[in-house]
Amino acid sequence: MGLKEGVIGVVEKVLNFSTMKAVRVEVLSDEFRLVEWESPGFKKVDWKPGDKIQIGSSLQFRTYTPVSLDKDTGKMEILTYFHNRDSLAGNWIQSLKVGDEFQYFGPRGSLAISECNFPNIYFFGDETSFGVASNLKKAKPETNIRFFFEVTRPASAKAAIDKLELGEVVLVPKESDDSHLKKIIAGFQNNSIDYKNSNFILTGKAQSIQAILPPIKKESVPSRNIKVRAYWSLGKKGLD
Ligand SMILES: Cc1cc2nc3c(=O)[nH]c(=O)nc-3n(C[C@H](O)[C@H](O)[C@H](O)COP(=O)(O)OP(=O)(O)OC[C@H]3O[C@@H](n4cnc5c(N)ncnc54)[C@H](O)[C@@H]3O)c2cc1C
Repeated sequence: MGLKEGVIGVVEKVLNFSTMKAVRVEVLSDEFRLVEWESPGFKKVDWKPGDKIQIGSSLQFRTYTPVSLDKDTGKMEILTYFHNRDSLAGNWIQSLKVGDEFQYFGPRGSLAISECNFPNIYFFGDETSFGVASNLKKAKPETNIRFFFEVTRPASAKAAIDKLELGEVVLVPKESDDSHLKKIIAGFQNNSIDYKNSNFILTGKAQSIQAILPPIKKESVPSRNIKVRAYWSLGKKGLD
């Protein structure tokens, strides 16, 4: 063992991460995997829909959203997307196989779905948001939820959406000049929306959220009715 590995081993012991093992890796399309993980630690955690979990190895972590967590069996599912085969997470995901072990900490609070109690929810996100969208749909079966997603490859995204049974969603292909965001803004700003009785949840790419938020605020929606959670940002690594 080299000095670097030795130091990492000591730090890992001190920080007390838990270990989980991949027990099912379902390839949904080129860049989406539904992965089931097992850990005795999952039998002891209190998971809420909208929580996040940090996963990694050698002290490098990336953040994900459990799609489900079963305390009885100690199993958890995550829908993972990779945008780049050569990024850290891209490398992990494309080579992942049953039996591989990763460290984790969490799950812990991220998006407080329980605070969204209006009869209508307008949700924006991208490929990284399908997991939390699934949490929302399962947690709020009576709510009228409208999903809007910007995606790079609609056919591939559809495979993941169908697997998670998100139902009818608006999938908008990304344009390099971001002109597609106009279609999404139109979905969030029109006469049919009952702004006083709606929650708005904006997730995914930080720069897209920044474009969509002002038109919603212009409709006098109180800040407490809007939840914003960026899952990645141009030029930044490993947002949590
Ligand atoms: C609370 C939270 C929950 C999340 N839940 C999920 C989830 O359930 N499933 C999931 O797949 N992802 C999820 N993500 C997003 C995931 O953590 C990031 O996509 C991850 O950081 C990518 O790691 P990377 O090593 O590939 O790229 P990084 O090293 O983190 O980033 C390098 C560069 O790649 C670009 N980049 C990063 N992510 C994307 C992207 N998605 N599309 C295009 N370009 C990108 C940026 O320009 C960035 O500067 C979540 C993030 C957060 C904060």
